[in-house]
Amino acid sequence: DHEITMGAYVGVVLADSSYCHAEHVLRDTSLALIQAKQKPEGWCVFQPEMHRRALHRLTLESQLRQALRQQQLQIFYQPIVALTSVSAAVPIVGYEALVRWQPEGRSDFMSPADFIPLAEESDLISQLGNWVFRRVCEQLSQWHQTSSLKQVPFVSVNFSARHLQDEQFLQQIDTVLKQTQVQPSWLKFEITENLLIGDTQPVFKTLAQLRQWGIQISIDDFGTGYSSLRYLKQLPVDTLKIDRAFIKDMKSDRNNLKIVEAIVQLAQILDLDVVAEGIETKWQAQQLIELGCRYGQGYLFSQPLDSSAAWSLLDRVVEEP
Ligand code: C2E
Ligand code: MG
Ligand code: MG
Repeated sequence: DHEITMGAYVGVVLADSSYCHAEHVLRDTSLALIQAKQKPEGWCVFQPEMHRRALHRLTLESQLRQALRQQQLQIFYQPIVALTSVSAAVPIVGYEALVRWQPEGRSDFMSPADFIPLAEESDLISQLGNWVFRRVCEQLSQWHQTSSLKQVPFVSVNFSARHLQDEQFLQQIDTVLKQTQVQPSWLKFEITENLLIGDTQPVFKTLAQLRQWGIQISIDDFGTGYSSLRYLKQLPVDTLKIDRAFIKDMKSDRNNLKIVEAIVQLAQILDLDVVAEGIETKWQAQQLIELGCRYGQGYLFSQPLDSSAAWSLLDRVVEEP
């Protein structure tokens, strides 16, 4: 008794004599179809480039799988500072853990912004997230055991929305916490706003559980996604991280300065902490201080560091003011 509207996507292959096997025509149609689904017109003609890209992705994915198995990934730590002055030696309150991968045959690190999406599209994201979390906890545990300092920093760990929705997620976190004897209060979890699209109930439950254990929650890249203010009020969160894009153009585009000001005020009203990301200049730091933003992170203060370099800065760690 209902009218149902259907649409269709079409992948097109112009088959010529270079094709010898029917399966190859179908394979290329599938690749064109994947592209078609991302286009407003709903159709797409196959280009040889798509085949090359698919092969490249496949190779990268299997390299990443192997890197995880052989523990070839590394974690860097970027200081999160208390914005008390614009000098580079301000007090550190915590670190953000950022994963690094140098695929074989490459002389530099590949940006996680390039391989995290790949991991998210395959089944690798939970494995990667669990590996990062375990490494961070082992590191924290080691810092606590070997440092004579009273105050050891919290570490903020990025989690992908897909991993958080994994049924085993909470169980896996709990196991690592118990095995490494890390206190939940030494940790913050960073999640992005797009976690809040769709059915939010299970996500709320997971976040609430983490918070009940004592882990703090940050919303990463705040301002670029889809947060509704209603969610923000209901969500069990502690911190907003203002996306780098707003900080970057604060000087040239006054609108960005206004947006940053509004986010800082919003955080104050909702009783949340606020961290500004991507601070590169003293001018930006000074503006943020004047706006009342209490915490910051960026190349002005420090690049992400390997664990021993991060360790050498531990004497600058203070208790959160
Ligand atoms: P994010 O969580 O927003 O991390 C901040 C990014 O900004 C990092 O890039 C950091 O190196 C960079 N950054 C920090 N300060 C500055 C600055 O002053 N200027 C500029 N231009 N950049 C700055 P990175 O390490 O390449 O990470 C990119 C993104 O990859 C992260 O964005 C995060 O979304 C994701 N990511 C990184 N590590 C992990 C991880 O372990 N798990 C998951 N799920 N995602 C991760
Ligand atoms: Mg982050
Ligand atoms: Mg961010």
